[in-house]
Amino acid sequence: MPHAPLTTLSEIVPPLLAWYRANARDLPWRKTRDSYRVWVSEIMLQQTRVAAVLGYYQRFLSAFPSVEALAHAPEERLMKLWEGLGYYSRARNLQSAARTVATDLGGEFPDTYEGLLALPGVGDYTASAVASASFGRREPAVDGNVLRVFTRLTDCHGDIADPKTKKSIREQIEPIMPIEPEDIRVFNQAFMELGAVVCVPGGPPKCDVCPLADSCLGRRLGTAESLPVKSPKKARRVEEKTVFLFSRSGKIALRKRPSDGLLAGLWEFPNADGTLDEAAAGAQSILWGLTPSAWNQRLTAKHIFSHVEWHMTGYVLEVSGDGPGDFFWADGPELEKRAIPSAFARFLSEAKILLGEKGTEKNLEGGTSPWA
Ligand code: SF4
Repeated sequence: MPHAPLTTLSEIVPPLLAWYRANARDLPWRKTRDSYRVWVSEIMLQQTRVAAVLGYYQRFLSAFPSVEALAHAPEERLMKLWEGLGYYSRARNLQSAARTVATDLGGEFPDTYEGLLALPGVGDYTASAVASASFGRREPAVDGNVLRVFTRLTDCHGDIADPKTKKSIREQIEPIMPIEPEDIRVFNQAFMELGAVVCVPGGPPKCDVCPLADSCLGRRLGTAESLPVKSPKKARRVEEKTVFLFSRSGKIALRKRPSDGLLAGLWEFPNADGTLDEAAAGAQSILWGLTPSAWNQRLTAKHIFSHVEWHMTGYVLEVSGDGPGDFFWADGPELEKRAIPSAFARFLSEAKILLGEKGTEKNLEGGTSPWA
């Protein structure tokens, strides 16, 4: 459908900057230009809501106030501080990049887009965001919010899952960016903020309070709510698992996940592939060298990752025996110290109850072992 283009895209800049200066949310990472702090916030905010990041950000920086502190952090402490934030490879990449900065770059972050892009875990968006926020570089930070605002504003129907669309949008934004470093910082933040609080996803945009309403083609043409166009993701794979809460003398069995792959190096409750019935779960326990003495309850839980869903069945078992060499028997304080991903949250809360109440018989629906 033919439509009148914006007179020039640059007409959005003055109202966008003015709106941000009057309305920006007060967020701690916006009060600093320190590249380490900006970088930590940008990594934490990837695929994670602002409200969820706030507490983690403060705790993380208290624990690791400098890039050197992060570079030398014990892995266990790092992962514990990241526990619950998800996408744990981000924490590993943070430390890997911190080591590069601390060791190879004399503790100074690269001050260019290209230099930042070379660090582990830093992609196009993060490099642009840090280069602009910390160093005032004219680099458009194009995240999902910016893609949404831009496609609505210009009535762009390109598929934003296609890297070519993203590249084209970046190339259209770059020439309209302000020149002054302070305005550059504000411009990128403002574009993202508008998408986060006004030109919102998952519902009608709030065009009546939008500073760009007079320029917006999507609003004028009635297409805004149907934009952006995004090709559907592939369906997630479903994996079934059986999780074991083995309890023995006030301790619960844990084991460490492999050092690569999903949730690499984090702690988990022993588990096996597939949904095992009680007899099969008992047989698996015996294979691990454990003898169940009381069979307690069956739990179910589901956890959704970006590409896979875990559908879990769990058994709470009192056992005797040590289990394989990679089992670690944790009491309450030891359990607290270890980073256990939120995929196991249902089982972790049960484990805490078990350890907190000293003994499993009292608080569970006790029963006779079906394997006795
Ligand atoms: Fe988004 Fe509406 Fe503003 Fe256009 S006018 S940018 S659709 S909030």
